[in-house]
Amino acid sequence: MNNTELTLMEIYDKLFNYYGPQNWWPGDTDFEIMLGAILTQNTSWENVEKAILNLKPYLDPYSISKMDENILSVLIKPSGFFNVKTKRIKNFLGWYEQKGFSVNVLREMKTQDLRDELLSVNGIGRETADSIILYAVDKPIFVVDAYTKRLFERIGFEIPKDYDSIQELFHSSLETNTYLFNEYHALIVIHCKTFCKSIGRCENCFLNNCCNFYKNK
Ligand code: SF4
Repeated sequence: MNNTELTLMEIYDKLFNYYGPQNWWPGDTDFEIMLGAILTQNTSWENVEKAILNLKPYLDPYSISKMDENILSVLIKPSGFFNVKTKRIKNFLGWYEQKGFSVNVLREMKTQDLRDELLSVNGIGRETADSIILYAVDKPIFVVDAYTKRLFERIGFEIPKDYDSIQELFHSSLETNTYLFNEYHALIVIHCKTFCKSIGRCENCFLNNCCNFYKNK
């Protein structure tokens, strides 16, 4: 049972009113966003930016798919786990090639079919698949991460344990809208980096008057 009377939409409004539009995902092209979604696994965005900068001269799917794995792993080294991520990028590109390296082909697919196919690629998990679908393909799917669990549990929502159930909670409570899902995830991230850190800056947080965690401190 939830320990808050606020709805998920009301929380969104509070976050949006405070931070304004985040205009995610940071990336110049759909393909750069796809790579960023893979490179950001288990590392900070600052490290991803360094890897993306190294990749800039080759940032199209044809070039990266033809690139020698050793060269690719050196270029993405700043993002950490570079040998694993090299394999994941190559696996992803093997799948993407079957789609003609065309984001428009992905846009024509049903969201669930696209998600199922992405999840069948070795190394593409739920958060990565959903980030690609939402931010590169522009289809409405809610991205769940550790920040999502932390923030909403603290506010007082009963948050299920598994990824898909948390996602379903958001899908069933919100209008199915790409812009809303895009902004909401980005707003959760900025709030958890600014206030709702592992040790929260609760005294200064604009959500503290509606936060169960703060009230019970
Ligand atoms: S009051 Fe504290 S726990 Fe609640 S949302 Fe703000 S920072 Fe997080």
